[in-house]
Amino acid sequence: MRPTVPSKRKVIRSMNSTGIVRKIDELGRIVLPQELRTKLDLGAKDGVEFYWHDNFLMLKKHEPACTFCGSADGIIQYEGKNICKACRGKIANFKEE
Ligand SMILES: [Zn+2]
Repeated sequence: MRPTVPSKRKVIRSMNSTGIVRKIDELGRIVLPQELRTKLDLGAKDGVEFYWHDNFLMLKKHEPACTFCGSADGIIQYEGKNICKACRGKIANFKEE
């Protein structure tokens, strides 16, 4: 059975308007309202990811993910790559045949 995709109108209705309007400055910057930063648990120096769809710009907090499986559980960096706890375990137990 094919999964049903919600209509564009339904998606828009399910989004919450904050009613907040901000102006973009000459360098393309805007200030995220404190209320939204709190809701997204965003602090100074946190990264955000941008998503674009049908004239909507969405952003979410960037969470580092494992290079191998995409998990965000117990991430550490090794040689500039993110590796989760589970994949570290798999690599540690890896045996060449
Ligand atoms: Zn992993």
